[in-house]
Amino acid sequence: MIPIIRPWLGPAEAQAAHDAILSGWIAQGPKVREFEAAFCAATGAAHAVAVSSATTGLHLALHGLGVGPGDEVVCPSLSFIATANSVKYCGAVPVFADVDPVTQNVTAATVAAVLTSRCKAVLVVHQAGMPCDLDALRAAIPAHVPIVEDAACAIGSTYKGQPIGAFSPLVVFSFHPRKLVTCGEGGMVTVQDTAIADRLRRLRQHAMTVSDVQRHASATFLLEQYDELGWNHRMTDIQAAVGIVQLAKLAEMTARRRDLAERYTVALQGRGLVLPHDPPWGTTNYQSYCVRVPGATAGQRNAILQRMLDAGVMGKRGILCTHQEPAYAHHAHVALPHSEAWAAESLVLPLFHQMTDAEHERVVDVLLAALRQG
Ligand SMILES: *Cc1c(COP(=O)(O)O)cnc(C)c1O
Repeated sequence: MIPIIRPWLGPAEAQAAHDAILSGWIAQGPKVREFEAAFCAATGAAHAVAVSSATTGLHLALHGLGVGPGDEVVCPSLSFIATANSVKYCGAVPVFADVDPVTQNVTAATVAAVLTSRCKAVLVVHQAGMPCDLDALRAAIPAHVPIVEDAACAIGSTYKGQPIGAFSPLVVFSFHPRKLVTCGEGGMVTVQDTAIADRLRRLRQHAMTVSDVQRHASATFLLEQYDELGWNHRMTDIQAAVGIVQLAKLAEMTARRRDLAERYTVALQGRGLVLPHDPPWGTTNYQSYCVRVPGATAGQRNAILQRMLDAGVMGKRGILCTHQEPAYAHHAHVALPHSEAWAAESLVLPLFHQMTDAEHERVVDVLLAALRQG
């Protein structure tokens, strides 16, 4: 069976986890700090706050901006469910913007179409690693409304020559194994403003005023205080140690994914499929190679995936529409034609660092055979 993804982990990551375990610091500690510093260096961000997942990072980011009950947050429906869930965790209402038919991302026009005076933040998603046109979005949104980037999939993607991570006030990344850099579970929030970064560091740790690292380094007894409601959204030092090793491999990971994607594009061109490609304003890391079968129903797409599975190739449906999931039944009435077409017609092909040429060719053959059958 050719899997959809296989994380690129080796002895160096195992050694890093081993060393962290034997160091005596296994919860959030010096390795988390070191990972945060490495992440700032990799993205150009002023601050980086490690968290337990992108989902908890999105929650902290929105809460940290003051998003609360009665507020609206504009975001795409066409995204992983965690995007809209993070808005709901704050008691706010997700207002769904449609996406561009080419990039699968929200645009200046689709966001402007649903903006109201209740909008407290705009949560944009670099879907499958495809960068949004951030300058155009910024220009279309009132200056007092911050943009938060859900960059869960976008480590290694670029916008106008710069890595994703330093453009908006808050940018959130994931280290789930389905993304490029992984440490099992984990997330990172990059932050431009020092006061917001400090607040997020407290909020991830029960809003405690004294961190474990500070207490450990202090010669005097420190009494902590809890000034507001916080959470335990911490990353462990074991995860951070693995993440540091992974992050150092990012350039190689990205180059390899782009090479494999280019080969898919060459092999699949002229077959009536819509294939992903870089937008004019940036480069994608191809976190997913998502192809679209124009005119297919969701049932026909699912049948293609079943035929691929029968032939030993694990594909996946493309990005889901949040408003079509039962948990969002009260949003089911919204009309998002481009999002709905993408959700029905798209599928994701296997793409992983150590994929062999034979595996790559087999995916192409199996996909083309599955398409011919229906
Ligand atoms: C994977 C993903 C998330 C959630 O990431 P976790 O680290 O698993 O919480 C959020 N948003 C998008 C767009 C994703 O692809």
